[in-house]
Amino acid sequence: MIQKPKNRRSFIKTSLLGLGLLSFPNIILANSKENYDVVVIGAGAAGLAATDELIKSGKKVICLEASNMIGGRAITDNQIFGEPYDLGALWIENGNTNNFKIYGENNSNFNVYKERYEEMYSVYSGNKRISNEDALWKVYDNATAAIAKTRKDVAPIDVVPYQDDRWFNTVHTIIGPWEMGKDFSNYSCKDFNFDYEIPESGVWHCKEGYGSLVADMYKKIPVQLNTKVTAIDWSGSGVKLSTDKGIISAKKCIVTVSNGVLSSGQIKFTPNLSAEKEESFFKISMGHYNRVTFKFKKLFKKKAKDNYLYYRIDKQNTSSPEGFCVTINPSDTKLCMCDPGGEFGKNLAKAGVDASLDFALSELKKIFGNKINKDLKQSHVANWSTNPLFLGAWASAEPGAFKYREILRQSVGDRIYFAGEATAKDWGTVNGAQVSGINQAKKIVSSI
Ligand SMILES: Cc1cc2nc3c(=O)[nH]c(=O)nc-3n(C[C@H](O)[C@H](O)[C@H](O)COP(=O)(O)OP(=O)(O)OC[C@H]3O[C@@H](n4cnc5c(N)ncnc54)[C@H](O)[C@@H]3O)c2cc1C
Repeated sequence: MIQKPKNRRSFIKTSLLGLGLLSFPNIILANSKENYDVVVIGAGAAGLAATDELIKSGKKVICLEASNMIGGRAITDNQIFGEPYDLGALWIENGNTNNFKIYGENNSNFNVYKERYEEMYSVYSGNKRISNEDALWKVYDNATAAIAKTRKDVAPIDVVPYQDDRWFNTVHTIIGPWEMGKDFSNYSCKDFNFDYEIPESGVWHCKEGYGSLVADMYKKIPVQLNTKVTAIDWSGSGVKLSTDKGIISAKKCIVTVSNGVLSSGQIKFTPNLSAEKEESFFKISMGHYNRVTFKFKKLFKKKAKDNYLYYRIDKQNTSSPEGFCVTINPSDTKLCMCDPGGEFGKNLAKAGVDASLDFALSELKKIFGNKINKDLKQSHVANWSTNPLFLGAWASAEPGAFKYREILRQSVGDRIYFAGEATAKDWGTVNGAQVSGINQAKKIVSSI
């Protein structure tokens, strides 16, 4: 049986930061007297790739990162559960062309493998495992088909059928919050369908974690950590960046921070950006997708690796289903990841770590019973919605706002360039972010 969901953007807590994490890159300090060719803001996949490309082309470049680690939304922790645990990106998308997967395959420190496509999920209604899932997949197939054939800049809620079906909330959760970080009323079918030209080539995993792969590939890239950019002055012929470590000047800069950060006004532009450009930070808005992870002593111990669990989420009086999809035993870690998203996921994150844990555990208890209380060994909450360095998971166009994707990509005054997942062709992914960074760096190289 084929794995039903996760066929397109198939991604696609404690506090998030302050974890004991990765081997560190060559940490460097910017020289305020230096006039750099380029300053790269952010050391996620896009910023690291851009910096790498600029260094290879002989440019004088510095990469500034606000946090104390590289990787951004692709981050693996090895301490919380004592084994690789991806707090953000987990699925290696488009493996045939994904540079990280290719890097992992050619590096004996990593075990990269393709996810199998035989049966790998279970479906529950209450505490009963469903053996005939046809009713669920009928709603799912019709919803995906309706979204896929819509070329209009409208929300899925305007086109998907079977909205009164008892499986609708589950399907909504799978194709909305789980794949997009957004509910059916909050994204554009046109944006979802438009730029995605990379042929489907399945999903890969890295046993050591996707974040470890990113960090290892760019371990030699010099990054100045703990340096937050607060303002970009482009009134002169170059750019002058204010940071909490002083002012840094360059001919050009590449901004790779999330649209959550850009729309929050944490980076002030002088002179102001055009109204349209500013709007693009809001209209290509962040989806929400957080991770509540459990480790049980016995539950799921015998499950094969890389399993998924979907359950019937009853009809609720809300436009954002209160539930989640579950990833069980990724890469044989025995972890159980419950990923609430959309508006509900955002509000749950705002309610805090305890509320997230309570909700996820109470949903699992409806399926497996109260006995799981005693079986629980450890838990963790990775909350991206409230982390000021991200303020969400990944971005997509709001209904009617498709045109802003292109506006977001455009450079300003030929000296402020924008890269990062939201600007990528394969947006919302680590590999998309990486390619966007390389492309913007190449544009700059040819212009200075
Ligand atoms: C929970 C979750 C699950 C996901 N699952 C998948 C998946 O399975 N597969 C997949 O391909 N993608 C997935 N994604 C999306 C993927 O992680 C992102 O698309 C990608 O990592 C974004 O990379 P980026 O370089 O564009 O941005 P980021 O990784 O956000 O990098 C930007 C960097 O800028 C830094 N920064 C922020 N503000 C400032 C400032 N003022 N000054 C200096 N630095 C600053 C941040 O700390 C960050 O390190 C997931 C994301 C989340 C949150």
